[in-house]
Amino acid sequence: MAEHVAIIGSGPAGWTAAIYAARASLKPILFEGAVTEENRLQGTMPLGQLALTTEVENYPGFPAGDLSGFLASSLSEEHRWLVDMHQKEGCSGPELMHLMRQQATNFGTRVVTDDIVEVDFDAHPFRLRSLGGQEVEAHSVIISTGARANYLGLDSEERFKNNGVSACAVCDGALPRFRDKPLVVVGGGDSAVEEADYLSKFGSTVYLVHRRDALRASKIMAQRAEDNPKIDIQWNSVLEEILGSDEAGVTGVRLKSTVDDSTRELEATGAFMAIGHTPNTLFLNGKLAMTEKKYLKWTVPFRTNTSVEGVFAAGDVADDYYRQAVTAAGSGCMAALDAERWLAAKGL
Ligand code: NAP
Repeated sequence: MAEHVAIIGSGPAGWTAAIYAARASLKPILFEGAVTEENRLQGTMPLGQLALTTEVENYPGFPAGDLSGFLASSLSEEHRWLVDMHQKEGCSGPELMHLMRQQATNFGTRVVTDDIVEVDFDAHPFRLRSLGGQEVEAHSVIISTGARANYLGLDSEERFKNNGVSACAVCDGALPRFRDKPLVVVGGGDSAVEEADYLSKFGSTVYLVHRRDALRASKIMAQRAEDNPKIDIQWNSVLEEILGSDEAGVTGVRLKSTVDDSTRELEATGAFMAIGHTPNTLFLNGKLAMTEKKYLKWTVPFRTNTSVEGVFAAGDVADDYYRQAVTAAGSGCMAALDAERWLAAKGL
């Protein structure tokens, strides 16, 4: 029998959609992603981008302070170990995601730890096939597979992730290791300037490393970078290596000139990549309308509808602008309500 709603993706958008769909008695099935080496390397493991961050200080409802008691009573036995890891500083990304997962399963969401690798939206009910070969039919589908930050692809980036290397200044910038220390941001677009500007509140100097001699960022943002005395733009430069040790994390970077191949080293305790994101839409094989950058298009203003009736999109997979946990969760709620109303209108 066909499912009422299948949800693909397990970040804040997916879990929020599941909580709402489950409470509306739609008995959602949620594919949270597969645990594979490929997913680990590209940052698309179950629980999404938040599972790759440390503290989350801007998600409403989780103030800084000792939440151990709350976590101990809220997490399942299986995930109680997170309480020991808890840093008594509000909520961490992994904790937040496990709590959302728990909340969704409490209301009856069935979770499948697998990727959806093929979709057929031509016939109704829709058909989905997983990496492990499971076939599912569903009357409605919510896609919440998120996006992944682009990294340069250096081994040293991998080594220092969560120890000085980040792709999210808003998530990690306020950590003690970055306070009053020189920091590096790579990129020349609006995100890079925004990250550099944000980080300048914490770091002593922010080196903005850009491979060309002009920023891609909009004029107003470029001006902001040039006007900020704490931002030092390193023109015509690429980051060749991140330097550091396992104990200290990042201690510096080696830059290479794009003009004359010369290299130089800068001291820094953080290296932030702001070279764009890639939405996780490849598995859709172009079957839904997408933007030039392959983000899913919302086809009805202020609704989560995609180009196929009955298929909805939520979170970063359809948003290259806000990209926050709370906006993803909000649009997950919207997608569940949109799906519920669509199913009701169709009598399904
Ligand atoms: P983006 O505009 O695509 O810029 C990416 C930047 O990274 C470019 O400067 C690019 O260099 C550089 N880059 C890409 N690959 C690189 C590599 N391998 N090595 C070194 N540098 C590399 O991406 P974005 O800044 O994330 O912005 C995405 C969208 O969101 C844009 O439409 C932007 O306007 C919007 N946005 C707006 C705001 C705002 O208005 N406040 C804030 C953030 C984002 P090149 O310039 O040489 O290509």
